[in-house]
Amino acid sequence: MPVNTDKRPAVFLDKDGTLIENVPVVGDTVTVHVLPGVVDGLRLLHQAGYLLVVVTNQGGVAQGLFTEEYVKHMEQGLRLALSARQIPLAGFYYCPHHPEGIVPSYAVQCLCRKPKPGLLLRAASDLGIDLDRSWMIGDILHDVEAGRWAGCRTVLLDHGNETEWEMNETRWPDYLADGMVHAAALIVNAPSSASSRLSTSQEADDD
Ligand SMILES: [Mg+2]
Ligand SMILES: [Zn+2]
Repeated sequence: MPVNTDKRPAVFLDKDGTLIENVPVVGDTVTVHVLPGVVDGLRLLHQAGYLLVVVTNQGGVAQGLFTEEYVKHMEQGLRLALSARQIPLAGFYYCPHHPEGIVPSYAVQCLCRKPKPGLLLRAASDLGIDLDRSWMIGDILHDVEAGRWAGCRTVLLDHGNETEWEMNETRWPDYLADGMVHAAALIVNAPSSASSRLSTSQEADDD
């Protein structure tokens, strides 16, 4: 399959528990402390030519815990923390919905709350992303499933945040990594596309 050179590969990144610590929101204070290894790992991916795109569930908006304005402050804080280290974010996409929310306009079944792939698909359309050459990195299996539905390969960060381990065929990560540097190294050393991996394994089966 020829590589579509007009489109670029991306790494989609979960936010909470992946880029920053998974801590509850208290008041209006926005704190951005990126996790160890995030800066070095993202720099490796950026230098390898991957667009870096955050895709995050922010169901707290629907639950009345914070506002979309708060989420936008968080985006700015994260962009600043990373751009100060010469790491640009190509996009920041969030889902403010939650089916059991209390704010009526957000309390809906949407197509963007992970494990659904809507955020990734919207980013791919906006930014011209080649999903077949792209990856999703997250700390729970909902991230893996969203990446898989979008046609990407996936890395699960073994941060101890997944606690239910409800497995099915869409929830198996391609790789398990112990941090962002490890995840980045796995990605830059992997075959160039998900479909090339599939055809390789089919050839192996034919032998
Ligand atoms: Mg997370
Ligand atoms: Zn949504």
